[in-house]
Amino acid sequence: MTVVTRFAPSPTGFLHIGGARTALFCWLYAKKMKGKFILRIEDTDIERSTQVSVDAILDAMAWLNLDYDEGPYYQTKRFDRYREAMDQLLEEGKAYRCTCSKERLEALRAEQTANKEKPRYDGHCRDKKKGEAKPFVVRFRNPQEGVVEFNDLIRGKLIFQNSELDDLIIARTDSTPTYNFTVVVDDNDMKVTHVIRGDDHINNTPRQINMLRALGATLPIYSHVSMILGADGKRLSKRHGAEGVMEYREDGFLPDALLNYLVRLGWSHGDQEIFSRDELIQLFDMDHINKSPAAFNLEKLYWLNQHYMKTSPIDVVAKELAWHMDRLKIDTTCGPSLAEIISAQAERVKTLKEMAERSRYFYEDVSYNDESVKKNITPEALPALTMLQEALTNLPEWNKELLHKTLEDVAEKCAIKLGKIAQPLRVAVTGDTVSPPIDQTLVLLGRERTLERLKRAIFD
Ligand code: GLU
Repeated sequence: MTVVTRFAPSPTGFLHIGGARTALFCWLYAKKMKGKFILRIEDTDIERSTQVSVDAILDAMAWLNLDYDEGPYYQTKRFDRYREAMDQLLEEGKAYRCTCSKERLEALRAEQTANKEKPRYDGHCRDKKKGEAKPFVVRFRNPQEGVVEFNDLIRGKLIFQNSELDDLIIARTDSTPTYNFTVVVDDNDMKVTHVIRGDDHINNTPRQINMLRALGATLPIYSHVSMILGADGKRLSKRHGAEGVMEYREDGFLPDALLNYLVRLGWSHGDQEIFSRDELIQLFDMDHINKSPAAFNLEKLYWLNQHYMKTSPIDVVAKELAWHMDRLKIDTTCGPSLAEIISAQAERVKTLKEMAERSRYFYEDVSYNDESVKKNITPEALPALTMLQEALTNLPEWNKELLHKTLEDVAEKCAIKLGKIAQPLRVAVTGDTVSPPIDQTLVLLGRERTLERLKRAIFD
C-alpha cells in the first residue's frame, strides 16, 4: 500500500505555525514511508477564501521547502465531482432532500435549547416523498443507531454514538457542497491513506467516516494533532508573538530552524533536539507524537536558529541573508561577501535580521552612536588613533595577522592596553561598540573604508 497524506488548508488567512507543523508531519510521514504528499486548498468558503491567502500558503510551503507530489488541488474546481457524489448518495437513498424552512429550523432550535437539549436536526424530511418544488438542501442520512469507532494514531481508540450525530447538510439550496462533504469526496478520490490534522477536527471525523462508508470508500487512518499553546499555557495567539510562518522569516529565522523547532513541538526522539531533514525522515514516526498540547518557547527557537546559522551550508544561509539585506535596502555589491559576513557574525546574533542590521556599516556609510563616540573617541585616545592611522596607511598587506600586530605595536608604543585602542577604533569604523573582533572587522571593511573613517574620527 502506498501511503498518501494530504495537507488541506483553508485559504482564509496566512499559514500559521500550527498549520505548518501539521503540514510538516504529513510531509515527513509520506517521505518516511516513501509515499505521496498532496496539497489541497479547501477554498469552497467563497466569502472567506482569498487569492492573497492562497499565495501566502504557497509561499510559506515553498519557503519551508515542503514540496508536494501532487497539487495544489483546488476544491472550487471540483464542484462537478461533488455534485456527482451527492447524486450518487441521493440515488441510493443515503442522502435526502430537506425542504424545512428557516423558520421551522429556528423554532426547533429554540425548543431544544429551552429543553436543555443539544440543538440538532430532527429528521423531519428523512422519509418524505420527493417532488416538492420548494428550495431544498441535501442532508446526509446518518445512521441513527450504533457507534462510530476509530483508532486514532495519537489518541488511541475513540468512540462516538451515532445518536449524537444529526443529518448533516451536504449541499446548500444553491447546490454548493459543504465542508465535511468535500473533504470526504476528496480524501476518497485522492486515495488518502492517512489523515493527519489538527484536533479541532476531531468531532468531524465520525461524520466523515459515516459518509465515507456511504460512498463505499476505504477508510483512512486518522491522527489528530494537539494544538500549540503559548508559554503561558493559553492558546497561541498574536499576544505570544508571531503566528504566521512568513513572520518568522521576516524576524530572521531560517526555515530549517523553524521546522526543527516545530517538529519537536509535539514529537520526540529521546532527548535529541537537533535533526537534519534526512534524519527526521528516517526517524519520524506517529508513535511518538505527544497527546497533550505543546507550549511555544521562543528562546529555544533562537537557540536552534543560531545553530543553523552556524552549521548550515553557507550558500543556504547566504541566500536567506540576501533576502534580509534586500528588505533593509542594503546594497551588498560593494563590500564583503555574504559568506564572510556570516562567518563573522553568526556567533554574535540570534537572527538573520539582526545580522543584516548589524552589518550595514560594511556596505554603507557609517552612522555614529553619539553616546559611544563621546565615551570612546576621547582626547586621550586621539594620539593612539593618529599613530594607528599612520601605521595602517603604510601596511604592505591588509590581513588579520598584520592588522592585529599593528594594533599591538601601537598600544605598546603608547603604553596603553590593547582594548584602549581597539574600542575607539571600533567606534570610529563601525559607529558603535559592538562588532566582530576588530582585526576581522578591519579585514571585512577593507583598507580604504577603514582609513577614510579613521581620518574622519580624528579630524572631525
Ligand atoms: N481545511 C481544514 C482546515 O484548514 C482542514 C481539513 C482537514 O485537514 O481535514 O482546518
